Amino acid sequence: MEITEKILDGKQLAALFHRAIQNRVDKLSAEKGRPPGLAVILVGDNPASRAYVKTKGKVAKKCGFKTFDYNFPAGVSQQELLSAIHECNRTDEVDGILLQLPLPEGLNSEEALSAINPSKDADGLHPLNQGLLMRGKPPVYPCTPFGVMKLIDLAFSGVALAPELDPLELKEADLSGKHAVIVGRSILVGKPQIFLLLEHNATVSIAHSRTANLKELCSKADILIAAAGVPGLIGAEHIKQGAVVIDVGINRLEDGTLTGDVDFESAYLKASKITPVPGGVGPMTVAMLMHNTLSLWERRVSS
Ligand code: NAD
Repeated sequence: MEITEKILDGKQLAALFHRAIQNRVDKLSAEKGRPPGLAVILVGDNPASRAYVKTKGKVAKKCGFKTFDYNFPAGVSQQELLSAIHECNRTDEVDGILLQLPLPEGLNSEEALSAINPSKDADGLHPLNQGLLMRGKPPVYPCTPFGVMKLIDLAFSGVALAPELDPLELKEADLSGKHAVIVGRSILVGKPQIFLLLEHNATVSIAHSRTANLKELCSKADILIAAAGVPGLIGAEHIKQGAVVIDVGINRLEDGTLTGDVDFESAYLKASKITPVPGGVGPMTVAMLMHNTLSLWERRVSS
């Protein structure tokens, strides 16, 4: 009983988002003349990327979206990739464009991301939108840090993760007086996470591979977000009693099992709330891609 109450179940929260998004799409599609459209661009045959894209396509359909699939071999030229992005930019029925990263070697992902129309940037990774994030006014938030915030909102809400919960109505947590520590400074997770936490009034520290005394810093955190990609980096000794622990890491071990950056077994004894891997941040990243596409669609069809 105690364990389930502690676990922040991202899979279940994501499923509630899918249902709420689907309801909204059902309600508004007829009035707006068409459903949201999501273009998913995959290059190469990286098995993890293929699996992510398959899941995203499946969930998009479940939410009632129309999907546009672009699959290119690893040898595609930068020009062909840019042409596909331009086509998505021009296609009126496409509201969101997702370019699955990482791209195979030889392709310039910075240039490709910058070619996406910022008002169709479903992943929130266009440089303009990243700049607007710093000002607190982006059209959408990057999916993984946004998903982390939804889990934090739930953790501090006192609301039970029950079927009747409408996650689109979940109140933003006020993190005034809370100290959040992020481990990892990537452009995809750690850096954008700073601004989301600041918008929620948290006091934020960010650690990375050059940080001295990681344990001391982490053990002061009321909210600890691990996004380093190092299995077992965070143990019980890094965790303050009662902290909320969010594990973004997804690491595949030699035996094929997936594990996070946090040593779950020892960490949950000290945490007040903790995400599992798998089933924590991963499904929330996909749900936030749908959330972003819904928002971009609503903006485009009502403007
Ligand atoms: P990255 O390699 O770009 O960045 C890792 C960051 O961790 C760097 O800033 C580095 O300085 C820091 N770091 C590395 N070793 C460290 C150490 N020993 N101590 C402190 N900091 C250290 O990775 P990323 O793209 O940000 O991804 C991080 C992890 O999150 C990976 O496991 C990735 O698979 C996972 N991820 C999960 C999702 C999801 O949806 N759950 C989404 C994106 C990334």
